Amino acid sequence: MSDCLFCRMVAGEIPADVVHSTDRVLAFRDINPQAPTHVLVIPKEHHRNFGALAAADPALLGEVANAAHAVAVQEGLVADGGNEPGYRVVTNTGPQAGQSVDHLHLHVLGGRGLGWPPG
Ligand code: AMP
Ligand code: ZN
Repeated sequence: MSDCLFCRMVAGEIPADVVHSTDRVLAFRDINPQAPTHVLVIPKEHHRNFGALAAADPALLGEVANAAHAVAVQEGLVADGGNEPGYRVVTNTGPQAGQSVDHLHLHVLGGRGLGWPPG
């Protein structure tokens, strides 16, 4: 989609600070980080939100989830197969949840204590 910010980042039309890339998944640092590590993990193909991707291609959602964990390990947020110190994966759907880009993305957050419940 030519008017989608994240599709344009996948296409290389807008710069991205890429930390992980596979055939079908891209991960890059959030431009406005909310934690010492804040990475966005997206399918390279356009899907509007979490539910749309889950319905259209659950295997791809699994690849996105796997990449999110790989990023957390790479960033030192958790040991592979371990549980500490820890990280959080968040995805927002719709305006009330704060979704501002309509291309599914998982936020991977860590590097500080994360309050619960989120705001
Ligand atoms: P959300 O509000 O959940 O849809 O998340 C969208 C995220 O995209 C926000 O955390 C923004 O800071 C981030 N963002 C917007 N533009 C860019 C960009 N050019 N590069 C990296 N992250 C971006
Ligand atoms: Zn898109």
